[in-house]
Amino acid sequence: MIEQEMDFENRIVSPDYSFTQDDAELSLRPKNLSEYIGQDKVKENLKIYITAALQRNESLDHVLLYGPPGLGKTTLAGIVAKEMGVNLRVTSGPAIEKQGDLVAILTSLQEGDVLFIDEIHRLPRNVEEILYPAMEDFSLDIIIGKGPSARSIRLDVPHFTLVGATTRSGQLTAPLRDRFGVLLRLDLYTPEQLAEIVIRSAGILGIGIEKDGALEIASRSRGTPRIANRLLKRVRDIAQVEFDGVITEQTARAALSRFEIDELGLDDFDRKMLSTIITNYGGGPVGLDTLAAAIGEEAVTIEDVYEPYLMQIGFLTRTARGRCVTKLAYDHLGFNFGNDTKQQSMF
Ligand code: ADP
Repeated sequence: MIEQEMDFENRIVSPDYSFTQDDAELSLRPKNLSEYIGQDKVKENLKIYITAALQRNESLDHVLLYGPPGLGKTTLAGIVAKEMGVNLRVTSGPAIEKQGDLVAILTSLQEGDVLFIDEIHRLPRNVEEILYPAMEDFSLDIIIGKGPSARSIRLDVPHFTLVGATTRSGQLTAPLRDRFGVLLRLDLYTPEQLAEIVIRSAGILGIGIEKDGALEIASRSRGTPRIANRLLKRVRDIAQVEFDGVITEQTARAALSRFEIDELGLDDFDRKMLSTIITNYGGGPVGLDTLAAAIGEEAVTIEDVYEPYLMQIGFLTRTARGRCVTKLAYDHLGFNFGNDTKQQSMF
């Protein structure tokens, strides 16, 4: 396998993204809570908090959204702003390098605005520190000058709502986490919910699709709407060029197998990881760092991107001593459970 093919960024089922990567993604984003499919508990809670804040004529308490990438955190921040009738400002932890960057953003906000900070766990520590009083008292303590002549001034900022997103709430420092009033966890979607999302997106993009075709795409999308939307667009291309344009179960199957995504949504990366655990470590347990080194991937990517789905489908377990592959995964990959020999070559 050539290096390029194993590059995480190029993975068709990668939930990673950048804002410029997929402009169409913007038009696919639901604009209000009623269009947002799934995550019922999150929606229910948000609805209550938004209604209460609106009734009191106050800004919404700060919200922390956590869950794997591509599940709809940015989308929810936009919905919160829309439902509250305020503006949305979007930035990310790594984009705010200096205290001055954050001061500039906060002082340019209007009363009630929603500030969305993606990957908030990656905020530099000294930036995080000036966020605390801003979140708590809507004020900033800024040090001007250096040495003995340095003095601190206090600046007021508008009452804003911070919506922070992170892949795991445990990555946040305790003082930052404690300053969020609302903590909401997003879970992977079921194939049925993803099929609904695929049908909705197909409607917006003017793509003809049958229900079974949508379900086929959905069940290979690793519980992640961003992947479902991306696969929909790629399957559309193949349906258009090689079939009559409408996505049926058969077209979806043919297209998806061409991307080497199997019927459970696993690609080369997943298969490589699982078979490495089986052949090199007897099925586990193997420590995360050891595994990361063995497959040449960052530990944090394995934890945030690969594992949630593999655990959801029951292929992988996390134990105190490390990662273990289950019998289901052995069967799926064609290995004999209990040893590392292959039954047959499936791929
Ligand atoms: P995150 O910020 O968690 O990485 P995004 O909010 O960017 O994820 O969502 C990725 C894509 O998935 C968006 O383009 C959006 O269209 C779609 N999406 C996410 N959640 C939903 C949902 N509940 N219903 C419909 N589409 C969704």
